[in-house]
Amino acid sequence: MATQVLIVGAGPTGLVLAIALARRGVSVRIIDKNSEPGLASRAMAVHARTLEFYRQLGFADAVINQGIKIEAIHLREHGEEIAELPLHDIGAGLSPYPFVLAYPQDDHERLLTAQLQAEGVQVEWNTELESFTQDEWGVRAVLESNGERHACSSVYLCGCDGARSRVRASLQLEFTGGTYKHLYYVADVQTSGPPNRDLIGHLGANTFALMLPVRSRGMQRLIGIMPEDAPEYPTFETIRPTLEPLLGIQVEQVNWFSTYRVHHRVASRFRVDRSFLAGDAAHLHSPAGGQGMNTGIGDAINLAWKLAHVLQGRADLALLDTYEAERIVFARKLVITTDRAFQLIVSQGTGGQLLRSWLLPHVFPVLSGFAAARRTLFRTLSQVLIHYPDSALSGGRAGEVIGGDRLPWVPDNFTPLQTLDWQLHVYGKTDPLLAATAQALRLPLHAFPWSEAAEHAGLLEDAAYLVRPDMHVALALPRQEVDVLRDLAARLQLRFSGDS
Ligand SMILES: Cc1cc2nc3c(=O)[nH]c(=O)nc-3n(C[C@H](O)[C@H](O)[C@H](O)COP(=O)(O)OP(=O)(O)OC[C@H]3O[C@@H](n4cnc5c(N)ncnc54)[C@H](O)[C@@H]3O)c2cc1C
Repeated sequence: MATQVLIVGAGPTGLVLAIALARRGVSVRIIDKNSEPGLASRAMAVHARTLEFYRQLGFADAVINQGIKIEAIHLREHGEEIAELPLHDIGAGLSPYPFVLAYPQDDHERLLTAQLQAEGVQVEWNTELESFTQDEWGVRAVLESNGERHACSSVYLCGCDGARSRVRASLQLEFTGGTYKHLYYVADVQTSGPPNRDLIGHLGANTFALMLPVRSRGMQRLIGIMPEDAPEYPTFETIRPTLEPLLGIQVEQVNWFSTYRVHHRVASRFRVDRSFLAGDAAHLHSPAGGQGMNTGIGDAINLAWKLAHVLQGRADLALLDTYEAERIVFARKLVITTDRAFQLIVSQGTGGQLLRSWLLPHVFPVLSGFAAARRTLFRTLSQVLIHYPDSALSGGRAGEVIGGDRLPWVPDNFTPLQTLDWQLHVYGKTDPLLAATAQALRLPLHAFPWSEAAEHAGLLEDAAYLVRPDMHVALALPRQEVDVLRDLAARLQLRFSGDS
């Protein structure tokens, strides 16, 4: 079969996009200029929303089994514990995955590569995108592999090629934002002493460092700011004398050490005609809250079903416009919020003082003492709050659920989502007219008995919810309005069922 989608970049974004497209029967090629999956642990946090997507794709449990659930955040000063925030079940009742999972990116990429292989698609390593052109007929790319050039024709091209994206540069898109002035370090190290399973923040005079476990190697991940007087090419030995007493550890072996600068940037567009940007190619954030990789995976999930629908004649081309409209708004918002959080944590000269004088007395007690505050923290970090209220696909309100919201979780209502396709949910009694309309539109209907859990989740009794293939509510229909449903199907020429 001719290539329908060429994916450039086999990082987490490109791999998830390839899996979600291949699962829907789209023919993909995925290339990467590297010779194998990444070897560095980089992004560690896998949030609940990403696990919900992986549940749909069938491998959430495999990821959870290989990661570590972070039980608590501890703040220590001069080795002494000064505050603790329990994270255990922080999102109970909000998601089937009410925790924060630590899972190193290199292990994660290997797992995704194996999942993709199970779909019958191999990553083409050592293959670089050199250039491409596009017109109304398709995309023609020039690939370079082992010193030879090849042409590749496809219907669409997806640039999942990271911060220095060639796809973005070729499309001449601006990547506005900035770069923070500090240099950061990250290291995976073996320490002496008892194993640690929590996230530990250590405060020192005008500095801080974070430590969290990397299970697959029995290692600890260390993150912090390089001192300003560090040499041009620092090594772990540069920071060892200050880091070991600060953390109260002894480092026995250094597995990986790297320094990096943190950027905050968003591309001016996420789509130009047949070419799309996703992941770090489209947006870069500070590492505060571990949002970067999870947001790239969210882009991939959003884009995959829309490309598949259009390629398979199940929707009008206008469906593709909703990708940028939905994802760029969130990326811009995220840059602003993570920027604020990051500035607060690292502002020079106040690193220790600010945490000491503001975070500890004001924020930690609220978070540890009030379940509601902890739930808000979970909702924000886990990305379950991401919504698309202004999308052309969204409409209506039923209970607390507005068109564009993620479908709230109540036990069992996520099970049918594994079809990766449209469906209608009713919580309570189904109107026969709705049932007949769903049948005529070949839209699977799932009726759940009204329950306290459904009420608690913000759903409305006897309301209907049209759920998109990515688990967002398109239409919230308080009175099971069938005309609204028919209008959306007609406007976007949607075929709700993939069966021909
Ligand atoms: C040191 C470090 C620590 C980090 N820590 C965290 C963290 O704690 N939490 C977090 O959320 N994020 C973290 N990040 C960011 C996170 O790693 C990225 O957000 C994530 O990797 C983005 O995934 P991606 O697939 O979009 O891009 P990438 O992972 O960058 O993948 C892009 C791929 O495209 C390939 N490529 C590029 N150009 C071409 C081309 N022309 N042809 C073919 N292939 C090409 C590259 O080889 C690469 O494999 C960290 C990053 C670094 C560097």
